This record gives sequence, structure tokens and C-alpha cells, in this order.
Amino acid sequence: MKTGILRPPREAKMEVLVRQIPIAREAMPAPRAQIPAKSFLTPGEPNIRCNRTESPEQYAGCAVTFAFLAEGAANAVFQLRPSSEKAGLNVLFRDENGSPIPHARLLNKVLRVSKGIPKTLPYSEIISGYENVIHPLFRTKLPSPPPAQNQAQPPSSRNTQEIASFEDYLMDDEGVRLNQEIITHLHAQMHGDQCASGPCATVPNMELYGILLPDMSSIPNQALTIEIKPKWLAQSPTAPRDAFQCRTCAMQRLRNKQGKRKRDPYICPLQLVAGNTPAIEKYVRHRVAQEMSGTNKAAADFDMEPVVQRVTAYLATGPGHTLLEFLRTLQSKHDDVGVTMRPATPPRLATSVPTSNMADYDHRLRLAMTLRDCSFFIRISFADPDMPIEAKLCDLDFKSADKIEVWWDKEKRLINGGWYTSVEPGTTCAVTEAWRTNCPWYV
Ligand SMILES: [Zn+2]
Repeated sequence: MKTGILRPPREAKMEVLVRQIPIAREAMPAPRAQIPAKSFLTPGEPNIRCNRTESPEQYAGCAVTFAFLAEGAANAVFQLRPSSEKAGLNVLFRDENGSPIPHARLLNKVLRVSKGIPKTLPYSEIISGYENVIHPLFRTKLPSPPPAQNQAQPPSSRNTQEIASFEDYLMDDEGVRLNQEIITHLHAQMHGDQCASGPCATVPNMELYGILLPDMSSIPNQALTIEIKPKWLAQSPTAPRDAFQCRTCAMQRLRNKQGKRKRDPYICPLQLVAGNTPAIEKYVRHRVAQEMSGTNKAAADFDMEPVVQRVTAYLATGPGHTLLEFLRTLQSKHDDVGVTMRPATPPRLATSVPTSNMADYDHRLRLAMTLRDCSFFIRISFADPDMPIEAKLCDLDFKSADKIEVWWDKEKRLINGGWYTSVEPGTTCAVTEAWRTNCPWYV
């Protein structure tokens, strides 16, 4: 694999990157004291290293092995489990002092590794973008809840984790330096031994760096996790005025037509963020059933109806609803004109617009698209109804500027192909429903 050769130090490149990124007013970073020192002291090079151990029995409380969990478009995710004799590879994670990191700090984490697909940023730029661009957006206190009547909390805010700021929804990340042996092993875990010898179509250039993140996956016999992709929580600014579909529903139709989209449970993002309880309940019921039939079969012994009701309330009127509304505000604020209104179109063309204005536009668009492509994890205990609901946002990797042209192409295709404006029989898109309510003679 190409990653057999270590990449050159990225410090110099990252310094340039940080200087070049124009900071929008709302993205102004907080004073250095609030930013973890690691991002400035050791830019580009993580403090944690992961290496094989030949004698895991000597490090019984520290040695771990990997279990493949999931593969997305850009990354693969592995759970960390206690070392075992049967494992093909046992490893130690060592901190900046060279001391093995104990299980207590590892077994509740997953290791995420970039697959190195084109148009995604490398590790150092992902870490830098997350700390310096994404985090500051979320340093906003939550709005105060309305005064409780009769001293009783609304059901949707009961038993949820303590959240004071939107930043509490972000995951703590720790960078890890890997090596070629580990990368080869992880690739074989994903695709079998036939892929261990080198790159494949979906893993062209796995990085020698990983990121440790909290493990939000389901816990057998205890809790299940639902992952929601919020997507476009407001209509595209450049959608036609006579659109019958929102941006995400229009894209969903296009993908269905191309046979690219599995018929998974789906909810129109505008229905989700509007807190449409019947639509959310139907969606949550499908997702809970899906989870029970998949990785959490033991949940079949439990009554799942209370889980469905709690998650529905959480999303329709509770903290999940507040978070989705906040995401919608951020998305709209950073992309208020739309990608097809970019001063230079298509993006590769030269422009007479001053470079600084262009860079600011691109920076804001990349932020909005990052926020549209994140994941919202909700974990709820079915074994103990008094356990709080846990919620985290992830996949907030700052999007590469290389994607702007792709976004421009997609929007043009949706507009010119009529995917926004043709009527889809049986659609539950909030835009169509608004037409049905207000102008029934049109639909
Ligand atoms: Zn829709």
C-alpha cells in the first residue's frame, strides 16, 4: 500500500492552512486557553501511538484487539476489545510518556481510520478543522427551558444527559499514530485476507493515523443506538420556487431512481426538525425494529413501546428537537445563497471576484455542508428506563474545498432534472404537504 511510506511532516503545511482559512465572524475561535493544548503543541502528530505487543499477558489490563464495527464512505470504525490469544493482533496504545493506556480509558472507545478516498482531508487537517472551525460554532449555551408547571418536568426532558452547551454534544477526539502492520490488519478485518495485501476500490489509501472517539454503539441486553443523518434541515436556497420536494427528498428520489439507495426507513428532514410527532414516531418505530432485528436481538424480550415513545418525545419536543433547530440555524446562516450562486461557476472557472471574498464564501459553504453531513447518535437503555438518553454528534469532518464542484453539479442536476418540481405520489415531504394544505388544486 502507498501508506507503507510515511507521509512527510505536515506541520508546515498545516500552518499555512490555518493561516489561509478566513474565519467568519461566527466561526471566530475562542481564546487559546479554551482550546486543548494538543492542537497547538503538536500539530499534525498525535500524542498516542499504537503498536503490536507480543506478550499481551504481561499487559493484561492494557492490551487490546480490534473488532470491525462499520464502514462509511470515508472512514472505517473499529471497536477496542480486551486482548485475546485467538486475536490475530494484540496491541498497546501508549501515551506521550510511553506508558500503556489502561482498559478503563480504551474499552469505551472506537478507533476511526480514514480510508483515504479522494476529496477528503487528511488526518492533520481533519483534527485542525474540528478544533479550530467546528468546535467554536457549538460554544453556545442552550436556551433556558420554559418554566415548569406544577413543578413537573415535561416528559421529553426527563432522563436525558446533562447538557449546558451545544458543545457538550460533540465527541472528544484523540489522535493516534498507527503503523503499516496495524493498517494491514484493520483492512483484513474489514474485507478479509484478500484485501490485506494492498489497497482496494473502497479503501484506496488507508491512513497511518486514527482517531479515538467514544463508542456510541448499542450495548447487548442493555441499550440500543439509533443513528440519524439530519441532512438538509432547511430547503436549499437555490431550489425552484415551485419545488414540491425539499433538497434531501429530491436527492432521495434521484438515488432511488438510480437504484443507489436501499429502502431504509426514511424521514423528510423538514418533518424531523419541525417536530412532526406522527412522522417522527413512525420513523423511530421502524428504526427501533430494525435495530432489534439486527445487532440487538436480545431486545426482543423487552417491551420496546416505552423506548419508541421516549425517543419520539426527545426528538419532537425535547433536547433532540432543540439541537436539530440549532443545526438548522447554523446550516442556513453559513449557506444563505446556495452553491449555484457561487460567484465563479462552475467552481473551476476563474473569477474577477476578490480572492478574499471567494475564500470566505467557500469557507462558509464548506461549514454548512459539513453540518448537513453529520450523524446524530441517540443511545437509550431499554433495560433501565431511568438511565438518561445519551446523544452525540459525529462525522463533523470539515469538508474539503475539492467537493465544491461536486455540490454545484448535484444542485444543477436536481434543478435541471426536475427532481425538485415534479410531484411524487405518496411522498411525505414537508414541502409537498405544505402545498397540499395551502394550494390543494396544485398537487
Ligand atoms: Zn422533504
